[in-house]
Amino acid sequence: MSGRGHWQSNRPANSSPYLTVPEAWAVFAQRVKPLTEVEWQALAGLPGRTLALPVTARSALPRFDRAAMDGYAVRAQDLPGRLAVIATGAAGEPPATVGPGQAARVLTGAPLPVGADTVVEQEQVTVEDSAVGRFVTVAQAYGPGRNIARRGGEVAPGTTVLEAGQRLTAVDVGLLAGIGELGAWVVRRPQVLLAVTGDEVVPSGLSGIGRAQIFDSNGPLLRALLEQAGAVPIGPFYVPDRPRALAHLFNQARRIPVDLVLTTGGVSVGDRDWMVHVVERMGEVWFWRLDMHPGKAVAAGAVGGRPVLALSGNPAAALMGFTLLAVPLLARLQGGQARPHSVWGRLRHPFPKPTRETRYLRVRIESDPGGLWFDWSLDQSSDVLRSWSAADALAIVPRGSGPLPAETPLEAWLLPKGLGRGGVE
Ligand code: AMP
Ligand code: MG
Repeated sequence: MSGRGHWQSNRPANSSPYLTVPEAWAVFAQRVKPLTEVEWQALAGLPGRTLALPVTARSALPRFDRAAMDGYAVRAQDLPGRLAVIATGAAGEPPATVGPGQAARVLTGAPLPVGADTVVEQEQVTVEDSAVGRFVTVAQAYGPGRNIARRGGEVAPGTTVLEAGQRLTAVDVGLLAGIGELGAWVVRRPQVLLAVTGDEVVPSGLSGIGRAQIFDSNGPLLRALLEQAGAVPIGPFYVPDRPRALAHLFNQARRIPVDLVLTTGGVSVGDRDWMVHVVERMGEVWFWRLDMHPGKAVAAGAVGGRPVLALSGNPAAALMGFTLLAVPLLARLQGGQARPHSVWGRLRHPFPKPTRETRYLRVRIESDPGGLWFDWSLDQSSDVLRSWSAADALAIVPRGSGPLPAETPLEAWLLPKGLGRGGVE
């Protein structure tokens, strides 16, 4: 193979020769064109999709001034005082009118009675029933505006509530519904051809599996992750470690409408690792190997104008590549951005190894009044998936660092929703 110098940027001596993960994102921003087709989607189908057009509120939220507590709507200037209760307003009922010396019983969500400017919660009043009706006594003065949710307080009509490029969550669905929308315009889902390579890999459940064969973890794992990321997975397809088989895969990808080819396996430097050779021969390689451990064996490029992301075969390394590379690439395809949420904390225990390429340690986050602590005592191997489920974040050990003592401050990226113990959106 030709030298790989042209796949790397000019990097200062003494650092890793490979691009960093953020530099890989910059490559995607430069090389990957966002999809242009948009479609309208009803509310239920919106989570995980990327908004194509900003949403401007046509309706205010709240739609009218309303009581935020059960209590009595009064005129602040009448307080303190003994007031005649002239009406009861529940949620869904039109507002009464309150005059001087009067109060209206209101329940949470009821429109604020006309003339009233404050709501005294029922715990603060004394109620007395007499022959001429009900009275409430409020013993102290309260200013106007108490316990009132103002019209437009959350969303003023005419304002932009959601921006184009935003990845929608269940919260956004609630918000859209609250302003009376039935759905929104989103970017078409990217179609992703998923190919699992490796002579030893067979689909899970295949009976009569050979002694040296393994069930495929990556295909089902990545398929599920693609769905979570708003993409349409096609596959997994199984490809042996042969250049002709890989060439056949990419030729097929050229003939069908796919927006990304995502592969695992065969991207390292072993005798049967043909992926990068084939991509280079049939298209172009943007980068091969990254300053990212585990998962360093990864390549990106394009064949026939379709982006290709080739992840390592080791399941935990493939998952690292998906989390740090495929998620931002899919976001870019949908016209958005996916940047991890960064937090700082300190190492709970010493980390004894020197670090050549930037390490992303699966850590549990603990907190105490002193701050956040990163516990890296989970299995950090490239092939161990299970420890991902116990992690909260990826703590970043800088390249070129030596053994680190306990309490070393580190940055960590919170795992996205659907990975790890909890996960953030
Ligand atoms: P490779 O990236 O092809 O060098 O593979 C690295 C390691 O991951 C080897 O031990 C493979 O057997 C294993 N591996 C490759 N693909 C898969 C897969 N789809 N599921 C589980 N393990 C895999
Ligand atoms: Mg292999």
